[in-house]
Formats: sequence, C-alpha cells, structure tokens
Amino acid sequence: MCMDHSFRCSCGQYEVSMTFKNEILPPETLSALYCPRCSANVDFNPDTMIRDNGWIIEYDMEIARLMSNSMPVEHLRRLSPETIFVEDYCSWRGIYPGDHIDSLRERESIVSIAKVNPKKYITELKDWANRRTERLRQEGWLKAHERVAV
Ligand SMILES: [Zn+2]
Repeated sequence: MCMDHSFRCSCGQYEVSMTFKNEILPPETLSALYCPRCSANVDFNPDTMIRDNGWIIEYDMEIARLMSNSMPVEHLRRLSPETIFVEDYCSWRGIYPGDHIDSLRERESIVSIAKVNPKKYITELKDWANRRTERLRQEGWLKAHERVAV
C-alpha cells in the first residue's frame, strides 16, 4: 500500500502529489518542497535534501531515522535523502512531479487500441513506456535513471 499526500512548494506555485511506500515514513518526513523557481534561493544541504531537475525536496532526517525500523536492512544501513527518494519512501508519484497525471492521459490513447487489437496494444504500450523513460532520462530526472527498459 502506498499512501499519497499533496504538498505545496515553498512559493506556492505547484502542488505535488507524493508517494510514501508502504507508509513506513509519515508525511511529516517531508519538511519542505521547492519547485525550480523557489529552489533558486535554497542553500542546498546534501545531508537532508535531494535535488531533481531543478526541484529540491527537504527531508526531516530525524523523523526518517525514527520511523525507519521496518525498512529492509540494506535501506536502513544507507538511510539518506537519496535512499528515501529513489526507493519511494517519500518521493514523486512516478518519475517526476505530476507524472501520474500525464502518464494516465498519454496512456488513454493507447488503451483505445486494446479493444480492437490486444496484441498490438501490448507492443504499443511497451514502446510507449520505453520511449517515455528514455525521454525523461534525457531530461535528467533521477528516477528515470533507476528504471530499466521493459
Ligand atoms: Zn515554488
């Protein structure tokens, strides 16, 4: 189970839905969110923050450490903003902020093929996923680099 919570960035321009894998970490783990505009004034601290394509997420590492007991031991050992982000303990829902909304919309056009030609649908879906991941990788999103092509 992954709970989703919405957070507004520091300047108020964006509201982003975040995922909390297995609800191990509480929403309070996210102490601040900065969009590419408001992140410009942030003094980046790698001990508590992760930077992703102009966005910055700041974590309350004290809360994260306190609540991390039920994580697999390999994540516990290297509990860092990067682990929290890449392993989806408190991260974008999808690869980038707003990904779940865009991907649903993009997928709709492919889903219409499914009724007519299920085999073509599978191929189209795979192609779409691969092209999409490649594009996001080129754009420089961290989690696009973690995902392997299907
Ligand atoms: Zn902002």
